[in-house]
Amino acid sequence: MAHVNENHIKLPGSYLFAEIARRVNVFKNEHPDAGIIRLGIGDVTRPLPQASIDAMHKAVDDMAHESTFKGYPEYEGYDFLIQKIIDIDYKKRGINIQKDEVFVSDGAKSDTANIQELFDLNNIIAVTDPVYPVYVDSNVMAGRSGELGKDGRWSKIVYLPCTAENKFMPELPKQKVDIIYLCFPNNPTGMTLTKAELKKWVDYARSEKAVILFDSAYEAYISAEDVPRSIFEIEGAREVAIEFRSFSKTAGFTGTRCAYTIIPREVAAYSADGQAHNLNRMWYRRQATKFNGVSYIVQRGAEAVYSGEGQKQVQALVGYYMTNAKIILEGLKAVGLQAFGGVNAPYIWVKVPGGDSWAFFDRLLNEINIVGTPGAGFGPSGEGYFRLTAFGSRENTEEAVERLKKWNIT
Ligand code: PLP
Repeated sequence: MAHVNENHIKLPGSYLFAEIARRVNVFKNEHPDAGIIRLGIGDVTRPLPQASIDAMHKAVDDMAHESTFKGYPEYEGYDFLIQKIIDIDYKKRGINIQKDEVFVSDGAKSDTANIQELFDLNNIIAVTDPVYPVYVDSNVMAGRSGELGKDGRWSKIVYLPCTAENKFMPELPKQKVDIIYLCFPNNPTGMTLTKAELKKWVDYARSEKAVILFDSAYEAYISAEDVPRSIFEIEGAREVAIEFRSFSKTAGFTGTRCAYTIIPREVAAYSADGQAHNLNRMWYRRQATKFNGVSYIVQRGAEAVYSGEGQKQVQALVGYYMTNAKIILEGLKAVGLQAFGGVNAPYIWVKVPGGDSWAFFDRLLNEINIVGTPGAGFGPSGEGYFRLTAFGSRENTEEAVERLKKWNIT
């Protein structure tokens, strides 16, 4: 008899987006002509940079000739892409990363979900709350979460509330934790940490021999000077941090798939006898067994992001979305709603009048036909907030703000 992994049974269905889709469908059936504007999903809408398109066309031609044809890619990525990542994303900012510390992958989602495999099931994990759900769910599937309480919290997971009261900056945990997921710029709050704040976490991890899993999928959206683009800007981080990055939101690769993870040689986890084990080599071994690499064509497309033209086109993409963010932020403020984020990130986190994020969702959908994401779906501390994204078209973003301005909120 095949026995099921009971951890999977514990996991509630993907309630958030399924429930959003259900409510939108009910509304659409009742109001087939309503012009619904979706500012809920975290997916991009602009096409790929032309430099990537050209490079991928050329790479397709490479596959047509025996002399340039490629078979299985290397698990950790092609040198041509790794070198660009090292030189442009790190060396230019004064950070030294070695070639064998870069792992090209098909997504920050898969890497942030899979990395927990390297750690013992008894580790205590800490997550910011609200949180990108992948960190929590992947630990539930593995059996590291304990039981789900009525308050929406898993019994063995340590939640670090991020609300307006603490300026959306998590406080160090009161109890000892072993693995800390940090995502800055943050999804869903759109808020960031300063270097001084991030240093507190690096110092904590060093003193506790903990590991920080730092998701910087939205790094390209940072404009402020004192906001670190990489955790490796912080002294000592190489000993305790793994960093995840993605071309998805930087260069519109959500459907093309390319990302990378940096695991410094120094970062370690410990066996029961106290011996340090090199996570970099363990991840290499894991990927060699379970991952087939990213296709040559896609890696050529990612490489082109770093060309002169590619960099200009990516800046234009980010600029487009950040102009949307500004339009949304100003619109919300003009109607008296308190809003956060949207300056160094493509997410705007709105304080909900009345505090019920699903009630606000329904009103926004029914009264002005705008779809956003209720904060409660990102964790208990997300209740009372609502996420809007800057990834829509300019036209839709402007129209949404016009509707907001005409809306009788109270
Ligand atoms: N990390 C965060 C915080 C995200 O919000 C997302 C996507 O929404 C991802 C990772 C996924 O990135 P990728 O498309 O590279 O899998």
